[in-house]
Amino acid sequence: MIPYSHQSIGDDDVEAVFGVFKSDWLTQGPEVREFEEALAKYTGAEYAVVFSNGTAALEAAYFAADLKKDDEVITTSLTFAATANAALWQGAKVVFADIEADSGNIDPNEVEKKITPKTKAIVPVDYSGLPVRLDELKALAEKHKLLLIEDAAHALGAEYLSTGSRQVKKVGSIADMTMLSFHPVKSIATGEGGAILTGRKDFYEKLLLYRGHGITKDNLTKKPEGDWYYEMQALAHNYRMTDIQAALGVSQLKKLDKFIEARKKIAVRYGEAFAGNKNLILPKEYEGASSSWHLYPLRLKDAGKRAEIFKKLRDAGIGVQVHYIPVYLHPYYQKLGYKAGLCPKAEVFYESEISIPIFPDLTEKDQDFVIQKVNELT
Ligand SMILES: *Cc1c(COP(=O)(O)O)cnc(C)c1O
Repeated sequence: MIPYSHQSIGDDDVEAVFGVFKSDWLTQGPEVREFEEALAKYTGAEYAVVFSNGTAALEAAYFAADLKKDDEVITTSLTFAATANAALWQGAKVVFADIEADSGNIDPNEVEKKITPKTKAIVPVDYSGLPVRLDELKALAEKHKLLLIEDAAHALGAEYLSTGSRQVKKVGSIADMTMLSFHPVKSIATGEGGAILTGRKDFYEKLLLYRGHGITKDNLTKKPEGDWYYEMQALAHNYRMTDIQAALGVSQLKKLDKFIEARKKIAVRYGEAFAGNKNLILPKEYEGASSSWHLYPLRLKDAGKRAEIFKKLRDAGIGVQVHYIPVYLHPYYQKLGYKAGLCPKAEVFYESEISIPIFPDLTEKDQDFVIQKVNELT
């Protein structure tokens, strides 16, 4: 089966990881610090904090945002459940705003309609790797004194042209906090892993606190009784990344631009090959936004054929996937009282979507096979 995404691991990665096994540190150590510095440098963020996975990172971001019970966060339903789940873990209420029909990204106008006095944060997702409308969302957040927490699990390496500053910036240097995932299907792999990027020192300190049991040796509330002294100041978790994972991350990050170039090339080829197919709607970048192409989300004009075409592609050995079932349609969210029909555009998007393979090591032969089968079956 040709998967829809796959990690790209070379001998250099293997060597980097093996080097760690005989070092003094297996868990959080110098490789973690190096990976964090490299992530901050690459994205242009001030601070990076890595976590055991992206979901843990999101939870930490919501903690740093100081979400309280009944605070509301506005997010998209066209995402992996973790974006919303992590807010529920912090006791917040999740409010879903609808998407732009074309990009699959949250629509800033829909966000504005959902803002109430209880709203604390806007949490957009760069769906498929295409940056959300960051200028509009940032302006909205500033106007209403909200935090902008970007779920960029798909979008490490994506770029955005800020109209205000007329500067092309990497995703990660724009929102108040930006979350990354290093799950093997994402831009780079560490096995499991995630990060939060931020420009704010106060958030940085809270993120560190949340990663390590709520324990700190800084900002002590009592006079230290000796060198052993530390304080537990918040109820938190062990969400550390190991040095084994971080070494893989450092090695992978060096190749990220090449990975994205390879993904872009495939997207261009698909775009040309499907241009004449009138039954498909193709993903597109918009002016000022450059995608990292985590996914290539095709949509069928006739959603009624989705299940059949999906099955036929799988039967042909193409590991297509669907991104995503709108979060509030899951039984857990239905039990919380969310109703079907809440975000009509996200539901239409979901019903017509099929993600076809796109990843750096996808051979031209396999791309041709995908192209041939998609054109034949749609
Ligand atoms: C992968 C993903 C996550 C969760 O990241 P993990 O590292 O798997 O925990 C969150 N949000 C989105 C949009 C994702 O794709």
